[in-house]
Amino acid sequence: MKIQVSNTNEPVWRNITIKSDLPPKLKKLDELSKNLWWVWNSEGKSLFHDLDRELWRATGENPVMMLQKITTDRLNEILKDDVMMERINTVYAHFKEYVKQPMRTDVPSVSYFSMEYGLCNALKIYSGGLGILAGDYIKEASDRRYPMTAVGFLYRYGYFTQTLSMDGTQIANYEAQNFNQLPIEPVLDESGKQMILEVPYPGRVIYANIWRVNVGRMKLYLMDTDIDLNSEWDRPITHQLYGGDWENRIKQEYMLGIGGVLMLKKLGIKNQLYHCNEGHAALLNLQRLVDYVQDDGLNFQEALEIVRATSLYTCHTPVPAGHDYFDEGLFGKYMGEFPAKLGISWQDLMNMGRENPDTNERFSMSVFALNTTQESNGVSWLHGQVSRKMFAGIWKGYAPEESHVGYVTNGVHMPTWAASEWKEYYSRVLGDDYIEHQEDEKTWAPILKVPDQEIWDMRMRLKNKFINFVKRDFSENWLKNQGDPSRILSIVDKINPNALLIGFARRFATYKRAYLLFSDLDRLSKIVNNEKYPVQFIYAGKAHPADGAGKDLIKRIVEISKMPQFLGKIIFLENYDMTVSKRLITGVDIWLNTPTRPLEASGTSGEKAEMNGLLNFSVLDGWWYEGYREGAGWALTAQRTYTDQAQQDKLDAATIYSMLEHEIIPLYFAKNSRGYSPEWIQYIKRSIATIAPHFTMSRMLEDYITRFYAPEAARSAKLRASNYALAKDIVAWKNNVVEHWDAVHALDVELSDSLKNASNNGEAVEATIKLDTAGLGKDLGIELVVYREEDGETKFHETIPFKVIKQEGDVVTYHMKNHIKDSGVFRYGFRVYPWNKNLPHRQDFAYMKWI
Ligand SMILES: *Cc1c(COP(=O)(O)O)cnc(C)c1O
Repeated sequence: MKIQVSNTNEPVWRNITIKSDLPPKLKKLDELSKNLWWVWNSEGKSLFHDLDRELWRATGENPVMMLQKITTDRLNEILKDDVMMERINTVYAHFKEYVKQPMRTDVPSVSYFSMEYGLCNALKIYSGGLGILAGDYIKEASDRRYPMTAVGFLYRYGYFTQTLSMDGTQIANYEAQNFNQLPIEPVLDESGKQMILEVPYPGRVIYANIWRVNVGRMKLYLMDTDIDLNSEWDRPITHQLYGGDWENRIKQEYMLGIGGVLMLKKLGIKNQLYHCNEGHAALLNLQRLVDYVQDDGLNFQEALEIVRATSLYTCHTPVPAGHDYFDEGLFGKYMGEFPAKLGISWQDLMNMGRENPDTNERFSMSVFALNTTQESNGVSWLHGQVSRKMFAGIWKGYAPEESHVGYVTNGVHMPTWAASEWKEYYSRVLGDDYIEHQEDEKTWAPILKVPDQEIWDMRMRLKNKFINFVKRDFSENWLKNQGDPSRILSIVDKINPNALLIGFARRFATYKRAYLLFSDLDRLSKIVNNEKYPVQFIYAGKAHPADGAGKDLIKRIVEISKMPQFLGKIIFLENYDMTVSKRLITGVDIWLNTPTRPLEASGTSGEKAEMNGLLNFSVLDGWWYEGYREGAGWALTAQRTYTDQAQQDKLDAATIYSMLEHEIIPLYFAKNSRGYSPEWIQYIKRSIATIAPHFTMSRMLEDYITRFYAPEAARSAKLRASNYALAKDIVAWKNNVVEHWDAVHALDVELSDSLKNASNNGEAVEATIKLDTAGLGKDLGIELVVYREEDGETKFHETIPFKVIKQEGDVVTYHMKNHIKDSGVFRYGFRVYPWNKNLPHRQDFAYMKWI
């Protein structure tokens, strides 16, 4: 045998996680780290930060990971540091005081379903605006002691992190999350093992671990299918947010809706109402229907009355293409067993997801959501209007203006998004309890009277903080990815606190038109290279990995930022996430937004900016359509001048340049001897005092309660009483109407001359209609419907109801006499509809007959 230099085989590595065991005196930190309360309570956040600053940053502001990694030496130091120990005790006491307050019992409890939640950066279960909104909402529910339970997914890979290659190509990195290092807790069963949810899928059961996120007083339950019990084919259901093919998507939406309802059942949570945040979770209503049929002995129609009466669907998407549709074959593969459970046909189920029943349309999740919820809403006033039009085809015969689809304008959770510096300042000048009355404009009036200098100092402080953040967190990355150290250093040096900083950060979807600013590079170069009036633009944002146009846009902006005339003047920050977002919306001067109207359903980043003394410069779309006030920001015109998008873009770009050159830049640099522009400060004060209060999450929650939750709870209680007596009555009544509907017809229509003649000099119009009601008697109503003809368009104008004047058996005579409002060219018609005071609105039972 020959002696070798060495002889070994491959190492056999085995994994073990050793968590640093916190000394008993520091156990409070462990408890604090397992509740996200610290995210929006500055004392909690700064405590973690100060425990170990380097580690806090290195762990991406993740207290659980930080406590696992903190060194024994550092722990011993903390134990010996009386001030720090005192702080830990105080923060802990405040936390305990907060969480021990009971939830309200005077409002209806709600189960809230969402595909994503943006709560903090460490928990990568969000991609953008929709998730941040859901996260903000449940934080507010916690603050307001609102009884709510949230349902979502724990993703293995979450949404991607973004890096850019040298030439600006977006690289999407999916990093597996180690669930042991996240601020979440496994939900345990009686035997102390992690609770496992069993969800029946066709031909198999899919299992999910159940996790809990403590969000202050709120609980968010997350499902995770990446476990050994599942086949390789099913484990990826919760791997990625908006990843995978359509089949994975339906498996995901099945898990969210059906699995989510089963999970709540398993946990013994019975809330009164169900709120579906975007259409992804709409199948929750299918499982609820099954439960009412199987557990409560209701028939399908009765179950549907109850399910509808207790649910709300919020739509966030302004274009039909943005909604989820499933091919009948794929949908059938997963949902095929449901009709039998409900006692309906396959066609009946498919039709619930079709705008035009009995066609071969694909199954639309939003149509299904609308058909199974009594109420639904858009997320700003304008988006409410757009949604009514978008969904009008579902309730044929009714004009969008008559639709029950409402709106609640999105808001933001102020304690999360206002800088701690501002929060302290607000406490000082508005009173300690300002946060309790944040949605009231009166609370904010004192801001108008504070010394200008204080506002300016605050702005400069946060601007410098932002610049330091860019220097610290980005130079390193830039050096790594983009070479040429001297160039990088010159960019970093050029970021100037005395320049007017303009921020633009959001998802890079083409409708957001991030390219607008770059349509005339010569003109832009003049703007940013004016020595006297320095201006810099900071961009950030991710493109969906499948969105080629979005990725090209990022590339183009990065290219421009490297041109000599724009170096250090146009800066692109990688990996837009909650941390980058918070720095931007507290640190720049102006928040720019240029969407194509009306595609920005609401937008919320501009609302965050409001709370931090930034000024918005934006297209009058989404929330800004309601938010804009003169002298408190700037608006790009609401009207569309060109139908050709390229022409419109050109015009809008020219307007942006011109407003910057002639209004905004001169205003900012009209500085006094103290170094600030007094008029600019007035803009800031007006913007904080008169705009910010209306876009708080507190206002939004209140709107949901008064517009939807409270009325639905009241009505559904009536439907449920005495073993669902009223619900059953309504179903019987509807069935009766349906049975006789076809036989209803007009026997005689008598019109006044003022209606018959082609023109009318403002005289009253009068009509008498004799109807064969086919046994429906007074269950029918008749109305005059008037549309106005204007500029080649026909627009809904008004309806005028008829009164019953005579009834002889089945024959009922109706009469109407009134003036048509206003003058103009009109067209009119008469329609018959079923009437019952127990219906919430006409679209609940949209039978209609024109006569
Ligand atoms: C607030 C926020 C958003 C949503 O803002 P929009 O104005 O809708 O673009 C998206 N991403 C992050 C990281 C945010 O903080």
